[in-house]
This record gives sequence, structure tokens and C-alpha cells, in this order.
Amino acid sequence: MSSKPHATVERLDVVRAEIEQAARTAGREPTAVTLVAITKTFGAEHILPVLEFGHRVFGENRVQEARAKWPALRARFPDIELHLVGPLQSNKAREAVALFDVIHTVDRGKIAAVLAEEMAKLGRRPRLLVEINTGAEPQKAGVLPEAADAFLTECHASHGLVIEGLMCIPPLDEPPAPHFALTAKIAKRNGLSILSMGMSADFSTAVAFGATHVRIGTAIFDARS
Ligand SMILES: *Cc1c(COP(=O)(O)O)cnc(C)c1O
Repeated sequence: MSSKPHATVERLDVVRAEIEQAARTAGREPTAVTLVAITKTFGAEHILPVLEFGHRVFGENRVQEARAKWPALRARFPDIELHLVGPLQSNKAREAVALFDVIHTVDRGKIAAVLAEEMAKLGRRPRLLVEINTGAEPQKAGVLPEAADAFLTECHASHGLVIEGLMCIPPLDEPPAPHFALTAKIAKRNGLSILSMGMSADFSTAVAFGATHVRIGTAIFDARS
């Protein structure tokens, strides 16, 4: 059973307070951290109370699910900012460019090329982040840390893309801090200002390491079925 909508808004408020606290503890401005509420698997009945509460920044991990859910919500709340946080296939690139305001998961030349093409065609420029596979996990998407600098150069030089930041998902069975630190280090030496890191279990740590965007699902919407 999923919980009642008002409980969702209460949890969102708790998470916001925790982010603010983590930012202050780290000597950072709370407004420097954007909460991306991850709504995958949750329907409009869960999302609407959060929208009515005033939250506008959301994330999905699948293009198809986003397409089914968000156009109707956007018709009612035009200032929604939608983030793609899941892996992107090249045959979904056009739709991703049309739907999303920020894409966190640029991770290979082919995707960079197709995104550049679709962005030119559609005249839409979602903000782009490169995903780093900090744990070098074979099953996980993302560029290996040692290949990151060259890939960032390739995105710009070969595809004309402006990459604004990095995203990472630390391995489940490891402390996240070294992964956040590594991502922040790669961003810094490449002059990138956006750091998408931190989920329900580790967002306070991520904020301490400089996260500008935390991606939080279960701590707000409760367990996914
Ligand atoms: C689902 C998801 C999240 C949110 O995870 P929670 O643990 O539910 O907060 C964050 N980032 C990505 C890429 C996800 O797929």
C-alpha cells in the first residue's frame, strides 16, 4: 500500500529541512542545492499534492514513463522542470530532448552525437550532465573516471555540446563519500558547476561534498512497489 498524499508533502518538507541543515553544516547556502523529486513508478495522484504544495523540480528514469505522465501535469503547471536521471537509448533521444529540461545521463559518443542532432532539429536545448561510473561497475552506465576528461572534450569538440555538470550513483555496497569526492574533483578540474549526486540514503553526505542537485525518491514518495 502506498501512503496518503498529505504524508508525501510532509516527507518532502522533512527532506527539504534536512537538505537545508546539511548545507548549513557544510557552510553552503541552502539555495545552492536543488531537490529533484524522483517520481518514477508514482502516478499523478502522488505527484499532484507535491505540485500543489509548490514544488516544481522532478525527475524520471525512463523516457516512456515520463511521456505518459508529464505532459498532462505540465499543462496544469507550466513551470515544471523535468530531469531525466535514467539511461538514455539513442532511439529515445528525440523524445528526451522534447520532454526534459535537464538530462543527467550523457555517457557515450553515440548519445552525445544523437542529442546534438536532435537538439538542432527541435531547437530545444536541455541542460546536459555526464554520468560518471565512479565505482567502475560493469552493469552500470556512465563514463569511467579515467575516461571522463577525454569524453568531456569530445562532447564539446566533436558534437558542440555544452556539458554543465556531472552525475554519479555510488555502488550500493560502499560508503558513498569517496565517490562523491571523486565526482566533485573531476567536475572541478573541468570547470563544471553542476553536481548531481545524493539519493534518499545519502543526500546529506552528497551535500557535504558539494552536490548542487540531489535526486530523492523514496524519502518523499515512500517505497516503490
Ligand atoms: C530512483 C533513482 C533515484 C532516487 O532514489 P531513492 O533511493 O528512491 O531516493 C535517484 N537517482 C536515480 C538515477 C534513480 O534512478
